[in-house]
Amino acid sequence: MVSFETLDREALSAEVDKLRDQYSQLRARQLDLNLTRGKPAPEQLDLSAELLALPGADYRDGNGLDCRNYGGLDGLPELRAIFGELLKVPTSQLLAGNNSSLEMMHDTIVYQLLHGNVDSARPWSAEPGVKFLCPSPGYDRHFAICEHFGIEMLPVPMRPDGPDMDVVTELVNDPQVKGIWCVPIYSNPTGVTFSEETVRALATMPTGAHDFRIYWDNAYVVHPLTDAEAPVHDILGMAADAGHPNRPLVFASTSKITFAGSGVGFLGSSSENIDWYKKNLGFSSIGPDKLNQLRHLRFFKDAAGVRAHMAKHREILAPKFNAVLDILDSRLSDAKVATWTHPDGGYFINLDVVEGTAKRVVQLAKEAGISLTAAGASFPYGKDPANCNIRLAPSFPALEEIRVAMDGVATCVLLAAAEHFDE
Ligand code: PLP
Repeated sequence: MVSFETLDREALSAEVDKLRDQYSQLRARQLDLNLTRGKPAPEQLDLSAELLALPGADYRDGNGLDCRNYGGLDGLPELRAIFGELLKVPTSQLLAGNNSSLEMMHDTIVYQLLHGNVDSARPWSAEPGVKFLCPSPGYDRHFAICEHFGIEMLPVPMRPDGPDMDVVTELVNDPQVKGIWCVPIYSNPTGVTFSEETVRALATMPTGAHDFRIYWDNAYVVHPLTDAEAPVHDILGMAADAGHPNRPLVFASTSKITFAGSGVGFLGSSSENIDWYKKNLGFSSIGPDKLNQLRHLRFFKDAAGVRAHMAKHREILAPKFNAVLDILDSRLSDAKVATWTHPDGGYFINLDVVEGTAKRVVQLAKEAGISLTAAGASFPYGKDPANCNIRLAPSFPALEEIRVAMDGVATCVLLAAAEHFDE
């Protein structure tokens, strides 16, 4: 196959006919495959099967705390020490909570809308408007929180080393811009890892709002797909040194380490922010699920235990990512109708098809029994201005299903592109 753009009209029409034929054969197979779910596969969950029998009869942590009872809003210190080491957050500034870090992000937004944060002059809801910077493509659930609460989202282009800092530093002068969403390592869905320079710029830049917050969602911090782990930069230290100790709110969880529905979420920040969070949280909780924290502690033992466990995930995930990349390469490279990421970690591959065709590709795939994430889902308000972006999630389906699904997706990408050029 040659680049579609070099084909004359006649050759292009012939290509459309050939691809329509291929697509009919694909539809006739009546597939039922799904590449939308960014969740661990059952074999990955099996890696943590031991957790189901923990903590056993010994329900006390290393300090003798009875984990069955109420209390301990901070979470177990020994578990916080393990994740503090991985996240580069001092144990005293890291809180271990319940299963969802997304819930913690949501709650901090609500607290700030209702009461403001420790640096606010008034509740965010009393401001003339609240805006958030949204590096895009990004995580749809971050954007959904903003949309739900009427926070205006300002898209920022994503570069290979993080958000476009020229755009960020310009927009952040507006005092209504109160925050930015960041997934600094193996970002969802681009796989981008922020460079040290970008991290420092975010931590130190002047902002119009004194109560500006960086939502530092390190969901994929220990999720490399290769032997080389991305370095974790000390954003809290950088921000504190620059006189903005309260700016970063660091989030993480074990959702994609142990059980996605029964992991442990973490929030790290300045001591002042942690106290602020606990003061607010204290109205809705008398303490987190410490037995769950204890069984995670016994399971991992230390930070090396977490890394060793992640190596097992990698053995399952890497072949799936490679299968997607191989098919994209063999089916789409020559036609030059798409570009895609080669992530070093995380849960997604980001596919950019010919501008204006992403929705058509997703529709064609759906009609052929292959579910893809809705086109535009990774952009604020679900609107991808170029209509070219598709998020692929290879973790959940079995390897053979991925091969079949991706081959079908490639046919849909080619057909949509050929139709587009043939118009
Ligand atoms: N943050 C990112 C970037 C994610 O991709 C996900 C899940 O896909 C989450 C957070 C969800 O985290 P949790 O399960 O801790 O709520």
